[in-house]
Amino acid sequence: MVGVRKVRSVLLFFVLCIIILVVRHVGHHFSVKEVVKEKNVVIRNPLEDLVVIIREFESFDNDIRESVESVLSACSAMCRVMVVSDEAVYPPLHLPRQVVSLVLTPGLLRHRPNLRGFLTGAKYVLLLPDGARCSSSTQLVDLINLLDTGDSQVVAVGVGGSPLTCHRYSLDIQAWTLTIAPAPQSEACDAVSGRAALLMKTGSLLQLTYPLARPIPLSIGIQGAARTWKVHVSRGGLLGEGRQLYANDHLQWKRDTVEEERKRSLYNALGVKKVVSTSGNVLWYGCTRTTPRCFPTVVDDTPDYLYMGRWTPPCCLEGLRATARHVFQVLKSCRARWWLEGGSLLGAVRNGDIIPWDYDVDVGIYSQDVDRCPQLKAARWQTLEDAEGFVWQRASEGGFFRVHYSTANHLHVDVFPFTPRGGTMTRGGAWTTGHRQDIDFPEHFLRPFASVNFAGVLASAPNNVRDFLELKFGTGAIETPQYPNPDVRLPYNMSALTFS
Ligand code: ZN
Repeated sequence: MVGVRKVRSVLLFFVLCIIILVVRHVGHHFSVKEVVKEKNVVIRNPLEDLVVIIREFESFDNDIRESVESVLSACSAMCRVMVVSDEAVYPPLHLPRQVVSLVLTPGLLRHRPNLRGFLTGAKYVLLLPDGARCSSSTQLVDLINLLDTGDSQVVAVGVGGSPLTCHRYSLDIQAWTLTIAPAPQSEACDAVSGRAALLMKTGSLLQLTYPLARPIPLSIGIQGAARTWKVHVSRGGLLGEGRQLYANDHLQWKRDTVEEERKRSLYNALGVKKVVSTSGNVLWYGCTRTTPRCFPTVVDDTPDYLYMGRWTPPCCLEGLRATARHVFQVLKSCRARWWLEGGSLLGAVRNGDIIPWDYDVDVGIYSQDVDRCPQLKAARWQTLEDAEGFVWQRASEGGFFRVHYSTANHLHVDVFPFTPRGGTMTRGGAWTTGHRQDIDFPEHFLRPFASVNFAGVLASAPNNVRDFLELKFGTGAIETPQYPNPDVRLPYNMSALTFS
């Protein structure tokens, strides 16, 4: 009896053990599933969503292989690496197989690559300058966290020891002008200078019209500023620096030369012709006295830049001012009776300068005074380049004169002769330009002359200038600016351009 009870207890014990084991096993199984599920959500490594793009490098001297290797090892092969160049790199770089080499310029048998396609599935791009070194995955993940948690479109981190400088970029699109000012040491800048790696969302990069234009920091800076982006400067986690690039004078010269050329073509593409630097220096990227002017022959009174929603390029305004001052000086020195005419007079009264979208300068002169000025007298018969390089000629349209900025640059001042007849200043049928303001007017406006500020000097002007302008342009002309030919339909109106 005792034996049977013992066997029962032992059996019961075994059954209990089995039940416990089964319950524990099932429970364990469930909890493992939970962890796996959590891993999928939380522990996906952001580096898997990163493409590192190396775009800033020179084929003649670079450190790309080592930079690429440092990235691949910091990413533990989770991120993708892309080397992007305009032309096939020569000498070849011999990069690891998983690195994508992208050549942007199409060729006879080579299409322009589809950047969007190559970046599919990547949430972040890091634009890494040649020579930079990544030391760990943490460094990259920290940058991604900065981007994800802040409200800046770009996170910038310095390469090597030199710190990044924060800049404010003011872009006046209508005036083709970029003004760069130092920004207070805040972390939200418009752009940075110095050796920087730039991290942004792939979507942001692809919004840009020139996503990979070089120099990268300048290109991203200007295009970002046009879209009111902010750059967050990471003060920690600087990237390392590889070997020194462009280590001798020749390589440095070569680098500076190509870099300057790139800057020039970037400004050209983005429509920047005047750059005011942090020190206040002005750099010009438009026309000069030795190049043709920036805009072609004007048709329908409407220069090409108005169709772009822009105003007279600042280089052209400078050339016009210089030509105007020269003409005023000559007319003064030959004691001709002259006055500011038409749109130029309108600009002088409005703001003491050329109207911001005007393309020439107009001056009137008593016709009997023309021969007092040797340049004008000679220009009756032939084109004349004077001692200061300005070119005087009879306008092809007829009996008035045109003074060009130079033989190459045809920015000009028009000089219109008027003949007094019985108290009226008449054109005497000698010329017409088809402008509304080309009308005869009472001579009393010129007796006596007045003067107005124009192009940085005092210019001779009619008296009662308001009446004079309203006679020529209609009532309210001074207060109501309009483009020269209101009949031409333009894609942009006078208000500033906005980018979205
Ligand atoms: Zn110009």
